[in-house]
Amino acid sequence: MFKKPHPSPAPAEDRTARVRFTGLSAGYPGRPVLRQLDAEIPALAVTALVGANGSGKSTLLGVLAGVIRPTAGEVHHTGDRPPAFVPQRGAVADALPLTVRQAVEMGRWGDRGPWRRLTRRDHTLVETTLERLGIGHLAARQLGELSGGQRQRALIAQGLTQQSDLLLLDEPTTGLDPEAREQIAALLTELVADGVTVVQATHDLEAARSADSCLLLRDGRLAGRGRPEQVITTEALSRLWQPA
Ligand code: ADP
Repeated sequence: MFKKPHPSPAPAEDRTARVRFTGLSAGYPGRPVLRQLDAEIPALAVTALVGANGSGKSTLLGVLAGVIRPTAGEVHHTGDRPPAFVPQRGAVADALPLTVRQAVEMGRWGDRGPWRRLTRRDHTLVETTLERLGIGHLAARQLGELSGGQRQRALIAQGLTQQSDLLLLDEPTTGLDPEAREQIAALLTELVADGVTVVQATHDLEAARSADSCLLLRDGRLAGRGRPEQVITTEALSRLWQPA
């Protein structure tokens, strides 16, 4: 299904960084969340942001997406396209009267300005992406009628039609059955082979273990970084899930 331009990828830590941040602090008015983070997101790899609820994963995704401004520190992107942000499935109302095709077409709005008039190329891209994610046959269905795994694919398709080289996903496998979780993990690996850098916030440890690289957050601070087998250790986890 995918071309594989990188048949034998180098280990994640040998690749150049797609995003690098130093001394990064960020949060909400009156609520500091991220504190002094120094880390990088390796290019052409799947990076998992792991941590308990409230540890700051979504906030970090928001900073990477450019929707939350750091209160201190630097964030340096090496890509030239804005990142594509895929929100949590739960944040997309079930009752939203949108077909799968319409939801995916929304990914082209950013490039088409206020009138949102899609070109023939946009429509071709939407159809290709629907097929590529195996949801072409569902294009006319309402988003709210889909299974969790199918809806996640539709949201990822929307992200991919933004044609960014950096895809940010908030809890893409949470609440899915094991088979759908595995399929999403395999899809993310395929996207990397196809030239996309993927970051997923997750508290699904299986998803984190199948990533190339992990950043562990604990109460807004970096508690570990590196390959999953180095950072997702029993000891790290016992500390991670305890209150700070
Ligand atoms: P995670 O994704 O790891 O669950 P979040 O980044 O969503 O963590 O949240 C980190 C902290 O920031 C939590 O204490 C949460 O309550 C708080 N928070 C999240 N969003 C907002 C907001 N819009 N306004 C104020 N506080 C927020």
